[in-house]
Amino acid sequence: MFDLVIRNATLPDGRQGQDIAVSADTIIAVEPGIDAEAGRVIDAGGLLVSPPFVDPHFHMDATLSLGLPRMNVSGTLLEGIALWGELRPTLTVDALVERAVRYCDLAVSKGLLAIRSHVDVSDPALVTVEAMLEVRRRVAPYLDLQLVAFPQDGYYRGPGIVEALERALDMGVEIVGGIPHFERTMGEGTASVEALCRIAADRGLRVDMHCDETDDPLSRHVETLAAQTIRFGLQGRVAGSHLTSMHSMDNYYVSKLLPLIAEAQMAAIPNPLINMMLQGRHDTYPKRRGLTRIPQMMEMGITVGLGQDCVMDPWYSMGTGDLLDVAHMAVHATQMGSMADKRALFDAVTVNSARIMGLEGYGLDVGCKADMVLLQARDPAEAIRLRPNRLAVIRRGRVVAETAPETSRLALDGRPQVVNPAEYAPRHGI
Ligand SMILES: [Zn+2]
Repeated sequence: MFDLVIRNATLPDGRQGQDIAVSADTIIAVEPGIDAEAGRVIDAGGLLVSPPFVDPHFHMDATLSLGLPRMNVSGTLLEGIALWGELRPTLTVDALVERAVRYCDLAVSKGLLAIRSHVDVSDPALVTVEAMLEVRRRVAPYLDLQLVAFPQDGYYRGPGIVEALERALDMGVEIVGGIPHFERTMGEGTASVEALCRIAADRGLRVDMHCDETDDPLSRHVETLAAQTIRFGLQGRVAGSHLTSMHSMDNYYVSKLLPLIAEAQMAAIPNPLINMMLQGRHDTYPKRRGLTRIPQMMEMGITVGLGQDCVMDPWYSMGTGDLLDVAHMAVHATQMGSMADKRALFDAVTVNSARIMGLEGYGLDVGCKADMVLLQARDPAEAIRLRPNRLAVIRRGRVVAETAPETSRLALDGRPQVVNPAEYAPRHGI
């Protein structure tokens, strides 16, 4: 007798006709034809069951603040940072908590059950930190929230930020952030990377820096972060977010940089929606795409996780809480259109990001935590193409969100009465 059995699932690795049996909060068996009673049975009908989506780069303290105190007119990163600076003194713990918890409702409905959020520590009052720690506590039953101490205004650019960052870590924020390309000079950027990696090494923490979110081909903070990772013995614990300078770098230099990143076991977290929106702003035509070199990194064996970064905040007026939107943009912006490419990008919004976050018991293997999503799609490539409804979202063996399948009724003479978008993919040649 199991608590939950999902029947006839297709798994992301291509196995079909799989039953998944769950007792309490754990996956007990994954195999065809499990013959046992269960408290609840879900018939997947051959559709895809995936581990939950994971967003390794987000700003939970800014989400849903679009329009406060005004809209970003230029649409640039710099006006977004300035606007956030205007909003920050008016923030209250209650308002921050309410917006963030409400966003998590949306995330859960999309099967997004783990988020790494940067938290601004530029205001030494640390209202944002207090609020996000409360959010982490409240959503813990259904969503894993990791927090990064993020000096949005620059680690060395404002009074009290160096101390505030350490205080945020003392309060329970678990990852060290940074923004070297926003320091006043390349030299101060370099110094900030070194200082922040030292803090992480001393405290035994992970590092995740906004690193070279710029179109400057000569910015060198990615190299510095990789080198300091090795110097402080932080291999496997450091992620570089954005890395957009690499889009514009000289190819010879990149041929030296990629092996250094691989040697440092440094993960990369591009944010395709935001990078496409914010980069290349000083270009006329042709305009650079401004996304880092995802296919080259994957070829080198570098772990790449894709993040959402923003949903309806001073930097980005769009966003849905759906990591499949992120993967969909990545397919286009990187021209990764083959079936193997799409499977790799599906991994980038699931298992790769789980590895970057160090999530324990993540996956669909026996013994993993019973967290999963049933999608109205037949495989990962179809999931990215369709960005389909999440028919069931399961957390620790319990269904926490359900959405009815998307179908349309037709009234056309001689044509079928129902259209199901998940039944349109040609099945030949796959
Ligand atoms: Zn960010």
